[in-house]
Amino acid sequence: MQYHTPNNLSELEINLKKIQHTISLVCKRVNRDPAQVRLLPVTKTLSIEQIQQANHLGFRCFGENKVLEAKSKYEALQHLNIDWILIGHLQSNKVKYVAKFIAEFHALDSYKLAEKLNHRLLLEQRQLPVFVQVNTSNEESKFGVQPEQALALIEQCQALTQLKVVGLMTLALHSQEPNEVRRCFQVLRELRDNIQKQYPEIQRLSMGMSGDFEIAIEEGATDIRVGQAIFGARNLPDSYYWSESK
Ligand SMILES: *Cc1c(COP(=O)(O)O)cnc(C)c1O
Repeated sequence: MQYHTPNNLSELEINLKKIQHTISLVCKRVNRDPAQVRLLPVTKTLSIEQIQQANHLGFRCFGENKVLEAKSKYEALQHLNIDWILIGHLQSNKVKYVAKFIAEFHALDSYKLAEKLNHRLLLEQRQLPVFVQVNTSNEESKFGVQPEQALALIEQCQALTQLKVVGLMTLALHSQEPNEVRRCFQVLRELRDNIQKQYPEIQRLSMGMSGDFEIAIEEGATDIRVGQAIFGARNLPDSYYWSESK
């Protein structure tokens, strides 16, 4: 896919408008209300100026993959009252940062991490909405619990007073075959539907990115995480953000 890198505020606005237009077209096609789909701009690798521009255009929630990168941006932009959303894997030695300033966490993948996070959140007297990350593609390189483990993790988390599980998150298979991508999103939605029988408050589906958000919306996404289609192609390969090393 070709992504156009905006050179100024009005080109950024055009990219954002295009995506919002696509979101409403897809919603119309599958009879969904576009207000039920949140576009979360993903700002990893972007400069403070680029984030300020997106904020200027009305966005105040941004997704970051790494907590330390998010932290430096949070510190630089404290005056803007931005909600920083952590969408990437978290190492347990960094939970203290999340507890301090992260507004939502989309990649909870173990009880051990949940416990540590809860402990830190208690010290900060904060509550945190979280999504359980599910590996729907069976790729070893992807984080997340297996679909059949998600309910057990959610059950365990009920005892943790500072965490509130609000949904499920996944990264689809990286594939040219749309049906294989779609299958990943369907697995997540079916899992959410099952979990809702016991936990009706668990509703959200964080799924879909620049290359596959249209399919994700068709399959029920409530939160799409979009970087490159808004801000242009990144130089760093995805593996820098998605694999265990680094
Ligand atoms: C970077 C990232 C995205 C966005 O990917 P784009 O290709 O830039 O849209 C979505 N989710 C996660 C977890 C990411 O790290």
